[in-house]
Amino acid sequence: MSLSLPYHLENYIDGYLIGPLSGRFTENVNPATGEVYCLTPDSNEKDIELAVHAARKAFPSWSKTSADERFNILLNIAKGIEDAKEMLALAETQDTGKPLWLSRQVDIPRASANFRFFASAIKHDASEAHATDTVALNYTLRQPLGVVACISPWNLPLYLLTWKIAPALAAGNCVVAKPSEVTPVTAFLLSRICREAGLPPGVLNIVHGTGVSAGEALVAHPEVKAISFTGSTKTGARIASLTAGQFKKLSLEMGGKNPSLIFADCNWETMLQETIRSSFSNQGEICLCTSRILVEASVYEKFREEFVQRVKQLSVGDPLDENNYVGAIVSKIHYEKILRAIETAKKEGATVLCGGEAVHPQGRCANGYFITPTVLEGLGPECETNRIEIFGPVVKLQSFRDETEALQLANASGYGLAATVWTQHLTRAHRIAGQLECGIVWINCWMLRDLRTPFGGMKQSGLGREGGWEALRFFTEAKNVCIRL
Ligand code: NAD
Repeated sequence: MSLSLPYHLENYIDGYLIGPLSGRFTENVNPATGEVYCLTPDSNEKDIELAVHAARKAFPSWSKTSADERFNILLNIAKGIEDAKEMLALAETQDTGKPLWLSRQVDIPRASANFRFFASAIKHDASEAHATDTVALNYTLRQPLGVVACISPWNLPLYLLTWKIAPALAAGNCVVAKPSEVTPVTAFLLSRICREAGLPPGVLNIVHGTGVSAGEALVAHPEVKAISFTGSTKTGARIASLTAGQFKKLSLEMGGKNPSLIFADCNWETMLQETIRSSFSNQGEICLCTSRILVEASVYEKFREEFVQRVKQLSVGDPLDENNYVGAIVSKIHYEKILRAIETAKKEGATVLCGGEAVHPQGRCANGYFITPTVLEGLGPECETNRIEIFGPVVKLQSFRDETEALQLANASGYGLAATVWTQHLTRAHRIAGQLECGIVWINCWMLRDLRTPFGGMKQSGLGREGGWEALRFFTEAKNVCIRL
C-alpha cells in the first residue's frame, strides 16, 4: 500500500488545488520515524481571503439546493472515503503516529459515517410550529448562516474535521476549513475526494497553515458568521476574545482531564479492559481519555496490582505493526511536553508505578517519538499533574472512601468534558451521573458513541454542543414567522 501524495500539499479553494500565495511551506514529519515526508502550505490572510471569497460566491446557490441534492453529494463523499479507506488509514497513521489498526477501525470509518449521518439527518430535519390559541400560528425557519469556519486538531484529524464539515454543509452553509498544521494529509486527500464527489466549487474550501497565521485570519474575517472549533482551551479562549466584538456564533470543544470512578461492585474484568482502553487508546491523545482514575479504597490495592500488570504488557512501537497497542506521540514538541509533565509529577512527589520513559524501538522507528504507558500514584487534586491536561499516555491513581469523596475528587477540576462510572448499583449510577460536572457520562462503558447525542463539555472544556440536531441548530439561524389568523 502506498500514498500517491505530492511532496507539496495544496490548499483547496474554489474547486482548485493550489499552493499558498506566499509560496511558503512548513515541514510535515512522520512522528514514528522523525522524517520529513511532505510540505504543508503555510497559508496566511491572503489565502483565507481567497477562500472566504469563493465560499461567499458559492453560498447563494448551495443554500438553495434541495435536501435531496445535498444528501446525494454528501453520500458521494462518504462513498469516496470508503473507497479510499486503506490509503486514508495509512495517511492518518503516517501523519499522527497512531497504530494503523486504529486508523482502520476508528478514524476512517467514522469520517465516512459523519457524512452519511448528516446526509440523512438533513432529510429528516423538522422545525417547530406554535399555535397561539386561535389567534396566530408561528413557525420557525432554520436558515443557513453563510460562510462558516471549521477548525480542527491533530489527534483525530479526518474524524473531527468531517464531524464539523458534514453538518455545516448539510445545513446549507459554505465552509472554510483549517485542519491542524501538524496533521494535514487526510484533509488534503479529502479535497480530492470532494472534487470527484461533485461538490460544487467554493462550497468547501480547505486552507492549511498555522493557527497564528491562517487560523487567526479565518476567525477574525468579518464574513465568517460562525466558528466551530476543536482544540486546546488556550486556543478556544483566544478565539473567543478575538471574535467577541463581532458576535459570531461559537462552538468550542476543548481540553479535558477526565475522571473514571471505579466502585468495588463493578463488573471487574470489563472495567479493567475498558480502563486500559480509555487510558491509552491513541496514546492517550483523545480528549475523552481517562486521566484521573479514582478507585474505592476497599479494592484500590487489587486494582493497582492488576492494572499495572496489564499496562506493562502493552506493546509500544511501530504503528504499522499490528501487534503494537501504542504508537508514536504526534510530534517532537508534544513528546517533550509529555516527558516534562512526567518530570513535574515526580518533583511533586508522584510514585511512578510503571512507564514514564521515552522508548527507542529498533529499526525504522529508532528516531520516532515513543513513550511507555505511564501510571502514577500519590498526588492530591491540587497538584499541577492533576490540574493540567497532559494529553498523552499518562494516568494517575487515587483512592476514595465513599461516593461523596468520589464526587468531590471527580469534580475538583477546571475541566468538565467526560467521566466514566463503574458500578452495578443502578441507583448510585444515576445519582452520580446527575452530579458529575461534565457534558458526557459513560456508565459501565467508554466512548460508546451514538451520533444523535449531544457532544461537548462544560467549564473549561467547552461551549455549545455538537452532534445530531445540536450541530444542525448551531449551523443555522432560527427565524420565527408569526401569522395572525
Ligand atoms: P490547538 O488548540 O493547538 O489547535 C487546534 C486547531 O486550532 C489547529 O488547527 C490550530 O492550527 C488552530 N489554532 C491554533 N491557534 C489558533 C488561533 N490563535 N486562532 C485560530 N486557530 C488556531 O490544539 P491541538 O494541540 O491541535 O489539539 C489538542 C487539544 O484539542 C487538546 O487540548 C484536546 O483535549 C483538544 N481536543 C478536544 C476535543 C473535544 O471534543 N473537546 C477533541 C479533540 C481534541
